[in-house]
Amino acid sequence: DFIQALTLDGSREKAAKETELTEKERKRMTLEETRRSLPVYPFKEDLIAAVREHQVLIIEGETGSGKTTQVPQYLVEAGFTADKKMIGCTQPRRVAAMSVAARVAEEMGVKLGNEVGYSIRFEDCTSDRTILKYMTDGTLHREFLSEPDLASYSVMIIDEAHERTLHTDILFGLVKDIARFRPELKLLISSATLDAEKFSAFFDDAPIFRIPGRRYPVDIFYTKAPEADYIDACCVSVLQIHATQPLGDILVFLTGQDEIETCQEVLQDRVKRLGSKIRELIVVPVYANLPSDMQAKIFEPTPPNARKVILATNIAETSLTIDNIIYVIDPGFAKQNNFNSRTGMESLMVVPISKASANQRAGRAGRTAPGKCFRLYTAWAYKHELEENTVPEICRINLGNAVLMLKALGINDLIHFDFLDPPPHETLVLALEQLYALGALNHHGELTKLGRRMAEFPVDPMMGKMLLASEKYKCSEEMVTIAAMLSVNSAIFYRPKDKIIHADTARKNFNHMHGDHLSLLQVYNQWAETDYSTQWCYENFIQYRSMKRARDVREQLVGLMQRVEIDMVSCLPETINVRKAATAGYFYHVARLSKGGNYKTIKHNQTVMIHPNSSLFEELPRWVLYHELVFTSKEFMRQVIEIESKWLLEVAPHYYKAKELEDSTNKKMPKGAGRAEMTQ
Ligand code: ADP
Ligand code: MG
Repeated sequence: DFIQALTLDGSREKAAKETELTEKERKRMTLEETRRSLPVYPFKEDLIAAVREHQVLIIEGETGSGKTTQVPQYLVEAGFTADKKMIGCTQPRRVAAMSVAARVAEEMGVKLGNEVGYSIRFEDCTSDRTILKYMTDGTLHREFLSEPDLASYSVMIIDEAHERTLHTDILFGLVKDIARFRPELKLLISSATLDAEKFSAFFDDAPIFRIPGRRYPVDIFYTKAPEADYIDACCVSVLQIHATQPLGDILVFLTGQDEIETCQEVLQDRVKRLGSKIRELIVVPVYANLPSDMQAKIFEPTPPNARKVILATNIAETSLTIDNIIYVIDPGFAKQNNFNSRTGMESLMVVPISKASANQRAGRAGRTAPGKCFRLYTAWAYKHELEENTVPEICRINLGNAVLMLKALGINDLIHFDFLDPPPHETLVLALEQLYALGALNHHGELTKLGRRMAEFPVDPMMGKMLLASEKYKCSEEMVTIAAMLSVNSAIFYRPKDKIIHADTARKNFNHMHGDHLSLLQVYNQWAETDYSTQWCYENFIQYRSMKRARDVREQLVGLMQRVEIDMVSCLPETINVRKAATAGYFYHVARLSKGGNYKTIKHNQTVMIHPNSSLFEELPRWVLYHELVFTSKEFMRQVIEIESKWLLEVAPHYYKAKELEDSTNKKMPKGAGRAEMTQ
């Protein structure tokens, strides 16, 4: 009996395996069909021939042609990975790198991380079997440090070149140089828009391979008057489309995770109230820090008789193609990192998009059928207020990090580096000055030992310096935690609309009297004491996923600390050294209290305020250090700690003079002074 049961079980298992196999087969079949239906497919052989013939090739084709997912696979099939070399493909966005790799692994029928993998900052999902590697442009930039000739690669694809991120722009110069002394390395520059000529000219007139697009007409609608509240306008538009228009998915462009979450809550709330009066509406978010288990949802087919609404950042503009979008809602804004080279201040702000962006967004509606795009701005504004093109990042952001990396690569003469568009001279000079003040460069502009150690960390030079300063201040345990928590930033605290009071009370429990870095440290350490409990996060309105990510990042940073030979030690319960180490890195980001609860930055006398979410919002210490500036209604400092002005002379004597830091009143302002004019 026993034996019979076993064999019976065995055969049942076998039968189950067989049906599973056929199901897998079936899925492969439809994948195969989808692959064949993509615009690039008819050009497969021509493309392979062109790559064989030319060392550098520019590929141009509309979003969704199959450039990112298909071209690398064609090259694998054509044998470009035969001698154990890899095909690399860069993406400006981490979510795109992960999701595209997942898709390609599925299409090739392999496990993600084996033959097909991805590598992004703080996360390497590849193995020694990997032949096709998707990565962020920043990751490839870092790989140059350990492998300056990219010897592991037979083909390098710089994808989404039109996005013109800082890293992509610098990669252009680096790969162009390598192509000269590695004639067998193939270089593909792939772009969704019309910059192909410009790329071709830069790469010594490399040929352009154009993939003819298929595009259905998209009707464009404008609002009659400007919208006062575009989030609300988005929600109203979604519900209107849902109530009055034929089925078809909706794509909404928002500027960031916070807006997406607000919009998601409002929509879900209104849908709940409408109950069975309307068809099912599935709301799916997409943004940079979206956890990987939620990324797959974007691509799940919409069930019959339901409608999907995708709330996305710019990432859905060209990096990710989501099929079956018929309606696009475009409020006309994006979040941008901007740098003022006069003041040296960097801040994240919401800005109007360019016409080129607006047209890309509209194009998302016409990929599979005729579509409609609702622009939440006036036709006049489109015509007269939007710039033609988005300014490339290299011309508008702080170059500290890029310059440090280039110096670490031994590229000393940055003024003559081969840039597609050279950055403004002042910006380069400022970056050099900043690195000098941080001690990363000597007065000849050469990398110092400290600078070399800083370059080991895939973080901003200020954060790198902060981590290295923890050696002197004996607080490395604390600083890696803080750096990790700052890297996941705003998504730590959970604030659902219906439980705002509870959430805010829970948050206040973590408030540290000396500021947010220390509050974040308390959150992490208390969580670690519960052995990283999910329940604890839930009870304290902390986002478990963000904490998990912070833990991963922390682990990576600890590894890097070992590499630069810094022992892990703790200074707790004393925390002065934590603040000093932070000051050693971020001494640029210091402001002094002035009238009415405002602050003024030291060097440039800019007016800034403490962000309402900060634990120091009510405290108003005399001297503060901030992690970043965010511009909404005002210039807000986010993640703030209290410091003492004399520390500045201790950590940056070559940058601050005692006179600048003179201070007549050393008292705190009375609580709440000047609060009346706060609007947020
Ligand atoms: P391009 O790079 O030219 O914009 P892609 O190669 O990204 O085009 O997209 C080709 C097709 O692959 C699109 O139809 C897209 O929907 C599909 N695709 C891409 N990534 C995924 C994914 N993660 N899941 C499902 N489909 C995907
Ligand atoms: Mg692509």
